[in-house]
Parts: sequence; C-alpha cells; structure tokens
Amino acid sequence: MGGSNSVNGSLLPFSQRPIVILGAGIIGCAAARQLLRAGFSVVVVAEFLPGDQDINYASAWAGAAWHAAGGITPDQRYYQVISHRVLLRMAQDPESGVHVVDGREYLEKEPAPNSAIWGRTVVSKVRRPESSHLAGSPGLTQILQFRELNQGEYPANFHSAWAYDTLVTDPTRHMPWLGQQITKLGGRFVRQRVNSLEELYSMFPESTLFINASGIGSKTLTDVQDDNVYPERGQNVFLRTDACHTFYFRNGQEYTYVIPRPSSQGVVLGGVKQQGSLSPEVDPEIARDELERAHRLAPDVVPEKPSAENISHIIGIRSSRKGGFRLDSEKQGHRTLLSAYGFGGGGYAFSYGVADAIQKLVERAEREHVIVEE
Ligand SMILES: Cc1cc2nc3c(=O)[nH]c(=O)nc-3n(C[C@H](O)[C@H](O)[C@H](O)COP(=O)(O)OP(=O)(O)OC[C@H]3O[C@@H](n4cnc5c(N)ncnc54)[C@H](O)[C@@H]3O)c2cc1C
Repeated sequence: MGGSNSVNGSLLPFSQRPIVILGAGIIGCAAARQLLRAGFSVVVVAEFLPGDQDINYASAWAGAAWHAAGGITPDQRYYQVISHRVLLRMAQDPESGVHVVDGREYLEKEPAPNSAIWGRTVVSKVRRPESSHLAGSPGLTQILQFRELNQGEYPANFHSAWAYDTLVTDPTRHMPWLGQQITKLGGRFVRQRVNSLEELYSMFPESTLFINASGIGSKTLTDVQDDNVYPERGQNVFLRTDACHTFYFRNGQEYTYVIPRPSSQGVVLGGVKQQGSLSPEVDPEIARDELERAHRLAPDVVPEKPSAENISHIIGIRSSRKGGFRLDSEKQGHRTLLSAYGFGGGGYAFSYGVADAIQKLVERAEREHVIVEE
C-alpha cells in the first residue's frame, strides 16, 4: 500500500484529498467544521445550503433546544454531552444564534431509570460563589445549574419538576453563521442535487472518503434507498414576544414545549410529529391545539389568545429512521463511506457530538489509507 497514491492512482496524499460531504444540514455542516479544524480539506455538496428554507431541509426549522433524550445508549448520551460542550462555547458569540436560557421541565410521572435525568451530568448541582476561581476562566463565565423543584414551585397536576439552565439554538442565525465558519476555515460548498452516491463519486475522482449526511435524501438516493428512513412532519407556532428567555418542556405522553429564541424575539411552540404527511400547508387545527397546550404549560409566556399579528408558522420534515440514526463507516473498494443520517427530532442535540465521532472515523480510515512506518 502506498501512502500518497496507492488506492486510486491519486497523486494527492490522503489529508489533501477533499473529504466530500453530501448534505449541508446541521449534521453535514457540523462535521465539515470539525474536519476543517482538524486540518482536512472538505467539500460540502447539497441541494439546500445554510440560509435556505425548504420544507425538506430539516435544519432550517428545528426548535432547537438542547434537551437530554431518554431511552438512549451511553454512546448516544455522550454525543449529546459533546454537543452541549461545543454549544456552550459557541454561546459566547452572539452571532452564533446559541443562547443559555432557564429551563423548566415538568414530569407527568416518576422518571424511569433510563430517563432524561442523566442530563444533569452536564450542569452543576450547586451554585458557585461569584468569587469561584472558575468564574474568571475563559469559557466558564456562566456555571449552568440543575435543581429539583419543590412542590408548590410547579403546577400541582405534575408528579415532579426540574429547573436547569440549558442551550437553545436559533437555526435562522446558526445555520448561516456555521456556513460562514466553514467558508472561513477553507471549506467549499457546491450546490447540486445528485441522484446517487455514484454520481457524487464521479464528481470527485481524487477523493476516497465520502460522508452521506443527506437526511431524508437517504430514502431516495438510488444506491442507498434506506427503507427504514421515513418523513415525520413537524409544525410549530412562532410567537413574537419579549418573554423569550425560558424553556418549558412537558415530559410525558403530551409532547409540548416552549423554546425561546432570544435572537429572534420570540418563542417556538410545539410540538407535533406526523408520519405520512408531507403537506407544506399550515394545519390551523394543529396550530390552535399547540397554542392551547403551550398556554397551559407556560401561561406567563403564552397568552390564551395571542394577537394574530404576533403569530407565524414553522413547517419542516424530520428525517427519522426506524431503529435509530446511522453513524458508521464501511469500505467500498478503494473508498470509505461514512453514513450519518436519520436523526429525527434530535439532530441539533446530537450534532457536534456526531461531528466529533465522524472525525474519529475519518482518522481511522486515514490510518488505513496511509503507510505508518515502524
Ligand atoms: C419542527 C421541527 C422541530 C425540531 N426541533 C428540534 C429540537 O428542538 N432539537 C433538535 O435537536 N432537533 C430538532 N429537530 C430535528 C432537526 O431539525 C433534525 O434532526 C436535523 O436538522 C437533521 O439534520 P440533517 O443534517 O440530518 O438533515 P437536513 O437538515 O434535512 O439536511 C439534509 C441535507 O442533505 C441534502 N440532500 C439530501 N438529499 C440530497 C440529494 N439527493 N442531493 C443533494 N443534496 C441532498 C439537503 O439539501 C440538505 O442540505 C426539529 C425538526 C423539525 C422539523
């Protein structure tokens, strides 16, 4: 095996062959940023690019709150932990669209052993004094906290409740910002729809490493056609308000949240997950129901009858996958293909952790592609 030109006749050493990412959603872009920071050369190919708004481009529409998911594996929890760490650092830059906000989570029932409670591992259980040596450290200007609420501090119809600081990402700010970061780091975007991975391979004959981060596209790419991928429609209400600094989440059967967007002066009210609908039209019944549920959850933020001029609607298709998301690497002849898609309603919460895992998979492939002499 020759390091610079063994596998496909390329004269370029591995590190300079562009890594080609299909998909410019939060997953493809987070991976691009991570790989560029590690010194790789990266091209992102996609039909929709940061700043676009299309119903099939899920990353334009996410809530997107960091919320610890219940029922996930330790590895998946760790992806969320890494995302939390990266987002917390990004929150120092107001341009990033990432903000630290108060969170209130009300539980319908006693939390199960594999519940979202693990999320407290990323926040502090004690309030640190202002004089703490951490207070002046770069990146630690704010110590995030978690606290179980006492009865009387939450509505009586819930079993229990948690209060914690969490992170929200405004995709209307974050995606364009991330796109700019990628360009500044030397990454390149190519706007193009492809019908297959083969078509992508033929566009980049020098490249040996490809990443499929095409979300819902993985259902239709002719040489992927993953039947486990399915669309799950989301429709949220955006309410313009100054009361946009507290996240509310109802943990249980009723799927209701109020996600603040401080940089857009409003809150996102949801939610709904609809299989089998791809409709771009606003369903007024869903909107009415979401407003009602959000008012019950957070009456201090959401009035019973908000004025119509403060209301708009968000509609997007989540790329969900039976059996959970794919994050793996496979050899295809002289090429290595990484697959990272099917993140359903959690793409932002997993994003930067997934990007970190992708870097490790790319480095493993790099090792296989180059000669490492004794
Ligand atoms: C209403 C709503 C609320 C949500 N709230 C949250 C939340 O609070 N927290 C959270 O973590 N997540 C949330 N999500 C989920 C989150 O938005 C997704 O998990 C995430 O955006 C998926 O990102 P992605 O990069 O995999 O896919 P996408 O953002 O869909 O990007 C796919 C990319 O692949 C490209 N592509 C696909 N096929 C092709 C092709 N054939 N040729 C060329 N390019 C192609 C597309 O153009 C696009 O660039 C929400 C989603 C919705 C809809």
